Amino acid sequence: MANLIDGKKISKEIKDELKAKVEQYKKEGKECSLAVIQVGNDPASSVYVGNKKKACEYIGIGSVSYELPEETTEQELLDLIAKLNNDKKINGILCQLPLPKHIDEDKVINSISPEKDVDGFHPQSVGSLVIGQPGFVSCTPAGIIELLKRSGIEIAGKNCVVIGRSNIVGKPMSLLMLRENATVTICHSKTKDLQAVCKQADILIVAIGKPQYIGAEYVKDGAVVIDVGIHRDENNKLCGDVKFDEVEPVASYITPVPGGVGPMTIAMLMNNCVSAMELFS
Ligand code: NAD
Repeated sequence: MANLIDGKKISKEIKDELKAKVEQYKKEGKECSLAVIQVGNDPASSVYVGNKKKACEYIGIGSVSYELPEETTEQELLDLIAKLNNDKKINGILCQLPLPKHIDEDKVINSISPEKDVDGFHPQSVGSLVIGQPGFVSCTPAGIIELLKRSGIEIAGKNCVVIGRSNIVGKPMSLLMLRENATVTICHSKTKDLQAVCKQADILIVAIGKPQYIGAEYVKDGAVVIDVGIHRDENNKLCGDVKFDEVEPVASYITPVPGGVGPMTIAMLMNNCVSAMELFS
């Protein structure tokens, strides 16, 4: 039976550490503030934005909300970001994705000052990660590193297989595991014999975006399995990219869905906000 990696508990630990830090900064007269922009009212985005604001409140980070209508033009959004880039009271800028189709997401991401890029999506942040310089790191992969470290799982020298090469999960995840001295293999939709490659993994990180795709036949005995996926199954229950019931008896450690990787993303966003204040204000 695998040990469960409790993302809820670990994310609470991180948020409590940040809360104590923020309280101390307040005593020194330093305030931390996040601007949260949402364009349109996609229901999933509204839930994510609401959870981010709740986390800010819990930790003591100020959040300033910009709820813009669906028909907001690209230029109006870029103007708002330019204003926030120059606002000394704002430490982090978060623009909830996806944006409406008439707005170029890359242009928007590129317009956020790298000093306020708490999502870690700006090309300068990504470039810093590639060459091992300090910079903001995409929150979900950064959260997975915390899950592994705080669960006492050694990364250095391990064979790590990451399934998925997206800009927000797979690629930064692979780079972070490399930075932690793992031997990293990245798999994607054109990978041949995915099962054989995955079977080599000491640490298997699954961000394939397909519900319950990875079964026990992909997992080496005793491997650590991290499930990044979030989906609803036919009964409207949350599930991941991994067949949990099948994989759990084979793995040494596993993240559940929900309660594994999910809660870490917001904790790391909060961590990036506090770092932005510490480094650049
Ligand atoms: P994505 O769809 O952008 O990327 C999926 C990746 O899987 C692609 O790179 C693709 O090449 C690869 N892939 C697809 N089919 C494959 C196959 N048959 N074999 C090998 N590789 C294959 O998804 P994403 O944005 O990286 O997200 C992945 C999952 O993680 C989704 O389920 C998403 O909902 C979830 N997610 C969770 C969080 C969180 O906070 N927990 C955050 C972001 C994403």
